[in-house]
Amino acid sequence: MRFDAPLARSAVDRHAPRRTEPGLLEHLRTLPTTRVLRVAGPRVPLAPSDDAAPPRLAYCSPALLTGQDLEFYLGSGDGIDYLGALVDPTAPSEPDPQVSWLSLREVAALLPDLDAGLAVAAVALGQWHVKAGFCAVCGSPTDVEQAGWVRRCRAQGHEVFPRMDPAVIVAVTDDEDRLLLARARHFAAGRFSVLAGYVDAGESLEAAVRREIGEEVGIGLSRVRYLGSQAWPFPASLMCAFEARAESTDLVVDPTELAEARWFSRAEFAGAIADGTVKVAPRSAIARSQIERWYGQGLDLP
Ligand SMILES: [Zn+2]
Repeated sequence: MRFDAPLARSAVDRHAPRRTEPGLLEHLRTLPTTRVLRVAGPRVPLAPSDDAAPPRLAYCSPALLTGQDLEFYLGSGDGIDYLGALVDPTAPSEPDPQVSWLSLREVAALLPDLDAGLAVAAVALGQWHVKAGFCAVCGSPTDVEQAGWVRRCRAQGHEVFPRMDPAVIVAVTDDEDRLLLARARHFAAGRFSVLAGYVDAGESLEAAVRREIGEEVGIGLSRVRYLGSQAWPFPASLMCAFEARAESTDLVVDPTELAEARWFSRAEFAGAIADGTVKVAPRSAIARSQIERWYGQGLDLP
């Protein structure tokens, strides 16, 4: 089965070289064709639609910008330039009562490609700005440059770039092609997923795969294979998906991380999904793509 990462879809041309154009944001703000995507933390505005239609983002005119919101250049698609604007995450002021604000986690997989790409970039950049107000080197306040893609500290000119934290996520199967699923301590009841963990400082992705699986369930791996990646900007992860074959099946579960870990045949998995004893990640999560790839078909679940 093909491997799709829903948040890796992008029909937007980011035009990175344009970010250094002097006055780019001011210029685009004056054009009637420019569209603005507001973000409030992980939440994005959705246009009203009837239940049958897939959701679309609700863009607004630059005229609606207050001048108080932090703005950035997202790029262009279909000949239209897009700005992002970071609005108050606690209370986005919404002039249109028909617009609803939802977490990108819930809607990302349902959005069209252009919307999905713009929303992932805007949410990631917006959340970085919230945490990048001060220079990590000298503690001075930072100012926004390059159309929102760089911050520079006032005291010594240190440049601060948007960052993402790489994580590995691994679909492990055994010799009978059973899939290893685990329930992390912090998961909701019944939620199972493939194992994941952050890459350590100075570590390769491949080494992180073997270390994480070794630490969490005590098994070695063979045939480690990279599948694909997607940003997961909640707030700043880059999920790097792998599949691997287990060298043994006896699990030694790390009780500090996991409540439970089990091997599932396809029949066992189908039964557990049907009777509700196992719940999986939403469609926007890369884990869902890994599980469906192993299962051989999509799951008829949100
Ligand atoms: Zn500094």
